[in-house]
Amino acid sequence: MKRRSFLHSSAALGLLGLGACATTSLPSRAQVVVIGGGYGGATAAKYVRLLSDHKIDVVLIEPNAAFVSCPMSNLVVGGSKQLADITTPYAGLARNHGVRVVQDLARSVDPQRKTVTLAGGATIGYDKLIVSPGVDLQFDAVEGLGAANTSGQILQAWKAGPETVALRRQLEAMPDGGVYAITVPEQPYRCPPGPYERACQVAWYFKNAKPRSKVLVLDANPDVTSKGALFKKVWAEQYRGIVEFRPQHKVLAVDARAGLIKFEVHDDVKAQVLNVLPPMRAGSIALQTGLANLVNNRWCGVDYQTFESTAAKDIHVLGDSIQIAPAMPKSGHMANSHAKVAAAAVVARLAGWPVNPNPMLTNTCYSYVDNTNVIHVASVHEYVAAEKTFKTVAGSGGLSSAPNQTEGIYAWNWAQNIWADSVG
Ligand SMILES: Cc1cc2nc3c(=O)[nH]c(=O)nc-3n(C[C@H](O)[C@H](O)[C@H](O)COP(=O)(O)OP(=O)(O)OC[C@H]3O[C@@H](n4cnc5c(N)ncnc54)[C@H](O)[C@@H]3O)c2cc1C
Repeated sequence: MKRRSFLHSSAALGLLGLGACATTSLPSRAQVVVIGGGYGGATAAKYVRLLSDHKIDVVLIEPNAAFVSCPMSNLVVGGSKQLADITTPYAGLARNHGVRVVQDLARSVDPQRKTVTLAGGATIGYDKLIVSPGVDLQFDAVEGLGAANTSGQILQAWKAGPETVALRRQLEAMPDGGVYAITVPEQPYRCPPGPYERACQVAWYFKNAKPRSKVLVLDANPDVTSKGALFKKVWAEQYRGIVEFRPQHKVLAVDARAGLIKFEVHDDVKAQVLNVLPPMRAGSIALQTGLANLVNNRWCGVDYQTFESTAAKDIHVLGDSIQIAPAMPKSGHMANSHAKVAAAAVVARLAGWPVNPNPMLTNTCYSYVDNTNVIHVASVHEYVAAEKTFKTVAGSGGLSSAPNQTEGIYAWNWAQNIWADSVG
């Protein structure tokens, strides 16, 4: 699309929050560096290129060779999809949009000099930096868990990739009559419905292949944190005698050799496959850079209108790493939405344009309760300038009334579309 027609397209103008009289004054060699090629970072990299009509140089730093989606990864655990089905190469970002993808890890950021140093040794300068490193799992919050993960005995599979396949192998190797236990940390954590969807996927596998086996959901929260009534109905009806839900189970320690999980106030639980999810916090590069300035240095504070860090100028933080606004889930759809608002703000600031005063975000989270039936929760969030935060729009969004196959089709199409939007 040519610049003139692009600037007059309603989508571009809407994202930028600009009127049709906007003029271009982009510096010819501005450079935006993006750390992390997940749902937030990959989308931001692409949209800075699109919204600047490819005038701003964008460098995306990501250690993995391809994008592997956490959404839909529970289907790999359940056995109805393979890792290849949820993997997209980064080549499209370079080929279609001219994003320079550097396969490396960002080791440090110097906010004063405005540089990023890579594990490989190179240093890259930026005019604006976008940081979307996802979450780090706090292994040190559960005694014995770090060592159990390193030895491969207790897995999380909360970052899709080799661990997702390894967890599937553990389930396949488990004898019929065994117990799979998944623990849920206190909120907030990555993907509120994710652990319950995984419980359904494992239950679906057991029902078909190992019917004497059990799924235990051991939750640190007082109740199911998302789509609660729907999940509980599925467990009571479709997976009766297979899934058991136990609230207020905060994990203290694990004993990998004995297959035990120890809790703050309840008896130990023994299981053959342990899937222990510890508390989470912003990705380590955000912590090292001093961006995680809230909740005991756990999450990154941002100005929600632009996603600029409240700790460092010219650095924008997105996705799971940020301190959430009310009712904002840590989801891939939300990270993709953050990215578009931040990309528009970055382009506007570099061009000297006004920043959109009323950004909006959307979210939809689908959960597969078996290989075809799905439930969803959706919401729309608007920036409320007077309160400097996002709030859900009254009457927006909603919840499925029951699992159904039509939403199974929507869910897989949602995935194809968001992968194309983020990395295509
Ligand atoms: C099992 C499961 C199911 C889920 N299902 C859904 C769903 O159905 N719908 C939904 O919307 N969301 C879902 N989610 C949540 C979703 O995956 C996350 O919310 C989303 O990935 C957040 O995007 P992000 O950009 O913050 O992090 P990520 O997508 O994790 O991206 C972070 C990237 O940063 C890179 N990185 C980290 N540190 C560095 C560094 N120092 N240098 C360079 N790169 C770095 C990582 O390699 C990674 O690629 C699910 C999550 C899980 C675990």
